[in-house]
Amino acid sequence: MSKTSVDITFNLDRLVRPSIKNISPYSSARDEFSAAGDDLVFLDANENPYGEGINRYPDPYQNDLKSAIARLRKVSPENILVGNGSDEVLDLLFRAFCIPGRSNVVTLPPTYGMYGVLSAVNETAVREVPLDENWQPDPDKIMKAVDEDTRMLFLCSPNNPTGNLMNSAKVKQLLQEFPGLVVIDEAYIDFASKDSWAKQLEKYPNLVVVQTLSKAFGLAGARVGYALTSPKIVGILNTIKPPYNVNALSQSKALETLKNSESANRLLMELEIERAYLVQQLEQLPFVAKVYPSDANFILIRVDDANKRYEQLIERGIVVRNRSRLHGCENTLRITIGSPEENRILTETLSTLSE
Ligand SMILES: *Cc1c(COP(=O)(O)O)cnc(C)c1O
Repeated sequence: MSKTSVDITFNLDRLVRPSIKNISPYSSARDEFSAAGDDLVFLDANENPYGEGINRYPDPYQNDLKSAIARLRKVSPENILVGNGSDEVLDLLFRAFCIPGRSNVVTLPPTYGMYGVLSAVNETAVREVPLDENWQPDPDKIMKAVDEDTRMLFLCSPNNPTGNLMNSAKVKQLLQEFPGLVVIDEAYIDFASKDSWAKQLEKYPNLVVVQTLSKAFGLAGARVGYALTSPKIVGILNTIKPPYNVNALSQSKALETLKNSESANRLLMELEIERAYLVQQLEQLPFVAKVYPSDANFILIRVDDANKRYEQLIERGIVVRNRSRLHGCENTLRITIGSPEENRILTETLSTLSE
């Protein structure tokens, strides 16, 4: 058992911001009658009676969409909170659990930039405990960074920008020992060779799995992300979320996409084939020192001179992401897997780059 600097165990009541404990959520008259269906005359919400469906406010609890997500992830609808992209879900977590100017969270660089941005916006200190040389978390060091004001730990798995899954034994240890919420960001889980942690929700009351339809399901423009967690935590987030946070067009598009799982699976298979092709091509380039294994839809590579290679690609009309400023990522580029044609343009261009 690793030791924190103080003796604390997980207790949800202790973690919730006192200022939100007594808020009752905004409720529309519609909430109370939605079960009655479409036969009622709705004159309660000052909507325009004319229009093609979107003249009405959307379902604030996204019930149809939650049923589809529940089927896909084998959880119950009560385990789901849907947000305007997973970025909104992450922001709701900060607002529900972090007291500005007092609380802190733990992040594991190099990782997704939004955890830092949201911490700053919510005046929450960040305790950075870098991943080790294999991009894995160090549970003992993480536990040493914890104190009574620590509210959340962000584990990104597969991690952005490194592309790897977090070691299961280490994640398990953290779920057992970390006294705050363990937020596992699974934005890329559908590209990975392992199962979602959402299967373990019953076992770990401090687990919050965050997923999105932006990557594997190709709906980045629709802004649909969600948390899979305990009904209690869903309830807390529901009290503070904007009532109509996911618009009607996005809800119906997301539902349609989830129903058509065959085409989503086809897309995934194509991207996996393309990832293998790109890895093999990148490994042959003389200026590429390392191609990091990827469980995501991007590949991190270490090159001789990232700024130079980045500029050379820009001059040839290809935009990748220079990740060199992140901890431990000197001279790295992150390359998203594109369509077969885009990937061929990339590899042909890379093979012509001068020394
Ligand atoms: C892309 C990404 C997200 C953002 O997802 P949205 O649902 O589009 O807001 C979240 N986490 C990670 C790690 C990402 O890379």
